[in-house]
Amino acid sequence: MDKAVKVRPSLNVFLDRDGVICRYFAHDFTKSWEEFEFLSGAREALKMLNQAGAKVIVISNQSGVNKGIYSAKDLQEIDRRMSEAVTASGGRIAASFYCPHTIAEACLCRKPGTGLVQKAVSELNLNLKESTAYFVGDSETDIITGERSELTTILVLSGQTVLAKETEGWKIKPDHIAPDLTGALKYIL
Ligand SMILES: [Mg+2]
Ligand SMILES: [Zn+2]
Repeated sequence: MDKAVKVRPSLNVFLDRDGVICRYFAHDFTKSWEEFEFLSGAREALKMLNQAGAKVIVISNQSGVNKGIYSAKDLQEIDRRMSEAVTASGGRIAASFYCPHTIAEACLCRKPGTGLVQKAVSELNLNLKESTAYFVGDSETDIITGERSELTTILVLSGQTVLAKETEGWKIKPDHIAPDLTGALKYIL
């Protein structure tokens, strides 16, 4: 990635966490910082986004909290360490928004609900209409969330979804498909 980065005054990038920034576990949760593993190139990609003036917002379902698998405090600790590590490598996460609820709780914030995006818009005072805004995720749920929030959606194949052809049966198709967050930069920057 050696091309000059153009700074955009109003660029908002919503990122799912697991499978986009860090390793996605198919049958488990990231329960502690010890289990958190940055995906290769993710921190460099976050640095590039920061250099381009993008506001990066993490939007993530973490039902493990209300399932009692890890606590809200554990999640907060993982988030703090992730954010610090990103900052240390030249990136910046403006804020993270997590849904701790299980499907059974039928909340409005669990993706594919748009509650977390709406919360981010209100708390960070974002104007999505007057900005370029993206939602990057590794699952159908992320793509639906992004579409419902009127964001340009990018599916990355670095987590839950590994093959582009898996999207064939999806009602909502991603606007773009990239191998990973670094690949997604091609559409964002
Ligand atoms: Mg994910
Ligand atoms: Zn929720």
